Amino acid sequence: IVWTHDRGWHDAELVPYGPIPIDPASSVLHYGQEIFEGLKAYRHPNGEVVTFRPEENARRLNASARRLALPELPEELFVRAIDELVRLDAAWVPGGAEQSLYLRPFMIADESFLGVRAAERARFLVIASPAGPYFTGGVKPVSIWLSQELARAGHGGTGAAKCGGNYAASLLPTRVAQEHGCAQVLFTDSNTADTIDELGGMNLFLVRSDGTLITPELNGNILAGITRDSLIRLAADRGLATEERAVTVTEWREGAADGTITEAFACGTAAVITPISRLLGEDGTLVDFGDRAPGALTVSLRDELTGIQFGTVPDRHGWVHRVSDA
Ligand code: PMP
Repeated sequence: IVWTHDRGWHDAELVPYGPIPIDPASSVLHYGQEIFEGLKAYRHPNGEVVTFRPEENARRLNASARRLALPELPEELFVRAIDELVRLDAAWVPGGAEQSLYLRPFMIADESFLGVRAAERARFLVIASPAGPYFTGGVKPVSIWLSQELARAGHGGTGAAKCGGNYAASLLPTRVAQEHGCAQVLFTDSNTADTIDELGGMNLFLVRSDGTLITPELNGNILAGITRDSLIRLAADRGLATEERAVTVTEWREGAADGTITEAFACGTAAVITPISRLLGEDGTLVDFGDRAPGALTVSLRDELTGIQFGTVPDRHGWVHRVSDA
């Protein structure tokens, strides 16, 4: 679907997957005026295919659009585009064993010029790809790497938007993390280097020994994860509070050492919840939960959320969006 300054959104079409023409002077290629989303389609035991809170992805896409000077897309157009693609690709949603269809909606600025300004033409596209279980052979705790030198976001920047540029900034630190045997990189506030923002592609939670969850507040630097929001609500249903506030590496390190912080996990659409066993940095191992990870709350929240997504646990919050009964 195409947007132009004079006509708004028009020309929606479903076409076979393949290359798309891009003019070499297209603004997206030069200034990174691009945003995206990520969500999944799941098959329930009764055969229905569903998505999870797609209207939240639509809202977040529009928040990103505002920051990147791109046009907003009406929520119903977003949801309809996803629904139509999923219906067409329903055969790729086999069901069972955490099989899903990953959906990647994205918007690119697509006007040809070389001056630096917001484009007056954009395209919104959705592509899909089958996704297997993130972990093979059970949920595995991971080590993560604290990036002390390289930052992803700064105050007033694009940290809260889901735009390609944020990920471009996190590619090198992610490679450094992998070179140290870590699955993901943890970013801190670039001013203090201690206040935790988020991981390269996930939000972070700590669990206190009294069952309270602690997660960095939405401070304008981090992505408002839909998994994050869902877990805060599922925890509240169990009478567990979540402290959304500034969280520091020091607090995590000291709490893990004296037993007041008992679990840590990362969360996002791709892996739902990933238990964290260790935090490493230039100064060595900062936190080590060893074989205490994954913790009990980490596992039970993961089971509940995946149960709702796969239709084996009641959807009390009306999060599941039915796409087709095919
Ligand atoms: N932070 C970042 C930087 C991400 O890329 C993601 C994945 N979209 C998340 C957090 C988690 O967001 P969600 O739960 O909506 O997938």
